Formats: sequence, structure tokens, C-alpha cells
Amino acid sequence: MMASFELRQIFKRFGPVEVIHGIDLDIADGEFVVFVGPSGCGKSTLLRMIAGLEGITAGEILIDGEVVNDVPAVKRGLAMVFQSYALYPHMSVRKNLSFGLETMRAPKHEIKERVAQAAEILQIEELLDRRPGQLSGGQRQRVAIGRAIVREPKIFLFDEPLSNLDAELRMQMRVEINKLHRRLGTTMTFVTHDQVEAMTLADRIVVLRAGVVEQVGTPLDLYNHPANLFVAGFIGSPRMNFLEGAVTGVESGVAEIALKTGGTLRRRIDGRQPSGDVTVGVRPEAIMLTDATEAATTGEVQIAEQLGGETFVYLGLTSGEPLTVEIKGQAQVKLTSTVGLKFDEDALHLFDSDGRSLIDTRAMATAAA
Ligand code: ADP
Ligand code: MG
Repeated sequence: MMASFELRQIFKRFGPVEVIHGIDLDIADGEFVVFVGPSGCGKSTLLRMIAGLEGITAGEILIDGEVVNDVPAVKRGLAMVFQSYALYPHMSVRKNLSFGLETMRAPKHEIKERVAQAAEILQIEELLDRRPGQLSGGQRQRVAIGRAIVREPKIFLFDEPLSNLDAELRMQMRVEINKLHRRLGTTMTFVTHDQVEAMTLADRIVVLRAGVVEQVGTPLDLYNHPANLFVAGFIGSPRMNFLEGAVTGVESGVAEIALKTGGTLRRRIDGRQPSGDVTVGVRPEAIMLTDATEAATTGEVQIAEQLGGETFVYLGLTSGEPLTVEIKGQAQVKLTSTVGLKFDEDALHLFDSDGRSLIDTRAMATAAA
């Protein structure tokens, strides 16, 4: 079973406080969409409104083209998986899986079949006679997902389902959920504050901030072409570096930027004419350590993290701004030494004082190709 859904100008107020400020969104049949944003930005509220567990102050929610505002949760054909698992502690795993179907008076043989199939998909067959208290966190989360699977929902709604798991298990379950989506092909909506989870799971990411959609796009679209400072800083780890500067001139489609920390950068631009104070955004992998003659500016090495496959170098600039550089492989850098910094200038982002992107990096990328 599959379904598309649509949000039209969704608002939510709790008493006098408005927490969702008019969200529009179109999700295609079979799509895996991830809502990502900091704690408190309204992710759970939005998901609960889609599920029908929370009323909508204004706007419309459509599933397969039908407005479902007044359709109760149980009739929407959706299944939600929570961070807290919400399993029945006194019931066996088997009963936890079948209980919902039994209350819906599904035929016995069908219940048995669906439970067996869900247990097989999630590899929890040996756990069926245990109780939740006898399971590890990861196993409990599988059961919670199994309980959603047996309902054969039109849409899965996941609310931070991996947040209680340790790092290793999170990664495993991430892969499992990815496989599950491939296998079932069902529309999935997943909420998380973890941008890595968002990047790895999503067909499309919706970046939320304080009840507003900041940007919607594929993971690489958001990574390569952030529309504003918030998205630029939120997507990517280690995060994008931000350097204060000012545009000192534009000539033949190239802007010249004087950095506050000293040194000059050049960035090809499109039709727009940036001027005045700007924030330069540059990802750690777009900076190279170099000797003084080629350097745009310099910095002092404060910390070097050797991860084996790559090295993260944390520097302090003369301006006091921090800078992170990612070097492929095992780079030898001397702590407290002053090093030259060279920038891949086609990878620079420019933001105005309101944090909006000043250049159409997408158009610029096509022009360069
Ligand atoms: P997230 O899931 O992104 O962390 P939530 O959707 O839980 O955020 O919360 C969004 C905002 O709405 C927060 O400011 C929160 O305090 C508020 N909020 C959530 N639920 C309620 C409620 N039942 N009553 C009042 N305020 C609420
Ligand atoms: Mg939440």
C-alpha cells in the first residue's frame, strides 16, 4: 500500500503560542521524506498532526488527494513509530505485534501471516515469545517497527525512532530502515534532529526551524546548494566554516571579498551584484593547507584529529574565528604552528546579512560543467 500526501498552509497553536507557521509540502507516493531540525522546532507536532493525534489550527492535510482533517487517526491508514517504543510490557512480542490487528477484528489466519512476515523481515522470529523487558533496546525498536509493519499502513511515520540507541546500533537500524523502505516501497516520513540520519535516509529532506520550512531538497542538493546560513550550518559534519568579510568589488563576473581575518578571496558570481558585508561559507573539504606563497590567509593549528582515513585540523584565525579543515588521509600537522590556507574558490558560498545565499550556486555549477 502506498500513498502521497500534501500539507497546505498548516498552522498550529497551543493556546496563544503559534508553533507551526504555515507549512506547505507535497510528498510523492513511495517517497522517503525526512523532517530535520533542532529540538523544539515542531517536528513531532507536525508528524502528530499528519497522524491525526493532534488537531490542526488551520490548513489542510491531504492523503491521496483527499482532505483528512476530520478523519480520526485510526481511519487514516497510517502507522507511527515512537522514540519511546511504547510497547505493552505485559504482552509477549507476538502479542504486541498482533494486538492492534485483533482489536481491528482481522481474520486469525491473516494476523498470523502478517506477524510471521513482519518477524521475518525484522529478524525477530526467535524473540516472539519474550516480553519487552527481556529485550535489548535495539530489539525493542525492531518490535515497535514490526507493530507498524503488520498494519500494512499507507504511510509510515517515524518520530526519532533511533534516538535511544547507541551509535553502533543507530547505524545498523538506519541501514535496516533503508532496506525496509526498498522492500516495501511505502511512503515513509521520518523525523530526526540528526542531520546524518537525514542525509543517509532521505529521498528528500525538509529542514525545519522554529515552525518554518527553511529548505526542501535531496540530501546533496541541500549540501551543495544551501539557500541560507541555517541550512548551510545544519547540513554537513564537520559543519561549514563561516568567515566574515566584505565585497570590495565586482569585475567580469567575479566578486572580490576582503576577509575580516585578512586576505582576499575571489568568487565567480551570477547576475546578482553582492556588495557590503557578507559571510563566506566554505566546507572543511574545500580548504587546503599550503605554504605561505599560495595562501589566501593563515591560521594557527590548535587541534588535529587523526581518524585514519581523514584528518580534521582545527585552526584559530587572526580574527578569532575558528576554521576546520578536512584533509584526506593521514596528514602530519604541527600543533601551534602557523599554516597557509588555500580555498577552492568555486566552492565558496556567500550569504548576505540576513543569511540568504547571494549566489545561485546551482546555476554556477552548471556553467562550470
Ligand atoms: P520537536 O519535535 O521538533 O522537538 P515539538 O513538536 O515537540 O518539537 O514542539 C514544538 C514546540 O511546540 C515546542 O516549543 C514545544 O514546547 C511546543 N509544544 C509541543 N507540544 C505542546 C503542547 N501539548 N502544549 C504546548 N506546547 C507544546
Ligand atoms: Mg520531537
